[in-house]
Amino acid sequence: MDYDYVIVGGGSAGSTLAARLTEDPAVTVCLLEAGGDGKGILVRAPAGVALLLPGRPKISNWAYETVPQPGFNGRKGYQPRGKALGGSSAINAMLYIRGHPTDYDGWADAGCDGWSWEEVLPYFRRAEGNERGADALHGGDGPLRVADQRNPRPVAHAFVEACAENQIRRNDDFNGPDQEGAGLYQGTPFWGGAKTGGR
Ligand SMILES: Cc1cc2nc3c(=O)[nH]c(=O)nc-3n(C[C@H](O)[C@H](O)[C@H](O)COP(=O)(O)OP(=O)(O)OC[C@H]3O[C@@H](n4cnc5c(N)ncnc54)[C@H](O)[C@@H]3O)c2cc1C
Repeated sequence: MDYDYVIVGGGSAGSTLAARLTEDPAVTVCLLEAGGDGKGILVRAPAGVALLLPGRPKISNWAYETVPQPGFNGRKGYQPRGKALGGSSAINAMLYIRGHPTDYDGWADAGCDGWSWEEVLPYFRRAEGNERGADALHGGDGPLRVADQRNPRPVAHAFVEACAENQIRRNDDFNGPDQEGAGLYQGTPFWGGAKTGGR
């Protein structure tokens, strides 16, 4: 069979690209993924990540090792990467966190035209479906559902309170104007009704 596009790797980027391309029903896409379908219980249940991450056995995880690192006194570093439909988003922590604006501006200054913060922000807003709604930095009706944690543990609140008592400022939005401080992350989990990404 012939396809208009062949995408190798059904991870976050490949799956998103396939979904976007096939919004046009006339377009055919073959999405090739080396791992499984990503529907196993360890992928679907957030707690399963504790079993997936160590990479022994290598379930939905390439479980790479680096070459020996001089900075680690010759030891190898461990690099988990997802191996399933969904890619690393099948084994990740589901935190919704963007880079710092100066990261993108640094890329643009280094010659990556179109990657400054001002230029990438419209794409972040377009992709984001934040349950808190839209504002200058957030999107409210994009396909990637972003939600507050539903049942954070009391110790998480206590930690944030302790930070505040120690002059570490509170931050309720790490993708807001200021990324520093202590607070609870928003995520891209199933309770946010994720259409793409997340689990
Ligand atoms: C443990 C962990 C925790 C993370 N936590 C977070 C988080 O909380 N929040 C966040 O925003 N990001 C997090 N990330 C990062 C995020 O998941 C990745 O940046 C993102 O998923 C990368 O997308 P990608 O499409 O570039 O690659 P991947 O999603 O890794 O996709 C690559 C895909 O290609 C497939 N593939 C590779 N070679 C071949 C081949 N030859 N043929 C066919 N298929 C192939 C792989 O199996 C994989 O499915 C985390 C990542 C990890 C590993």
